[in-house]
Amino acid sequence: MLKRSPIKKKSSLKKSSTLKNSSPLRQKTRIKAKGKKTKEWEEARKLLTKAFEKCNITSCELKREGCTGSYFTTWAHSKKRRYINSYSELLEVGLLCISCHTYAESLPKEEMYILITDIIKNRSEDVTKYL
Ligand SMILES: [Zn+2]
Repeated sequence: MLKRSPIKKKSSLKKSSTLKNSSPLRQKTRIKAKGKKTKEWEEARKLLTKAFEKCNITSCELKREGCTGSYFTTWAHSKKRRYINSYSELLEVGLLCISCHTYAESLPKEEMYILITDIIKNRSEDVTKYL
C-alpha cells in the first residue's frame, strides 16, 4: 500500500526583509554604441530566423557525431566573420548545433566555406527565396 504522506508545506514566508536600497541604483544608461556590423547581423538574423522557419529547418543541418539536433542551434557562416564584407555573405549560413558548429569552426576557412556552402546547396528548399 502506498502511503500518501500529506505534504504539508510550511509556509514560511519570509517577512519581507526591509531591503531598502540605501543607495538608489541610479543606473546611468550607458548604451554601448553598436557597431555597424553588429546591427547588420541583427537584421540578418531576424530575416534568417523567419526564412528558416518557413523552410522548416529547425535543427542542425550537419548532423555529425555528437550532434545535439535542434538543441543549441546557432548560425554558422560560410566565411568567418572578419572576412564577411557583404550582406549576402552575411546571409550565407547553415543552421548548426553547437557541437557541429564547433567542428566547423575548427576547420581551415576554405574547408569551412565548402562545408557550409554544401549544406546550402543540398537543401531541399531554397531558403534564400524567403530572404
Ligand atoms: Zn549538429
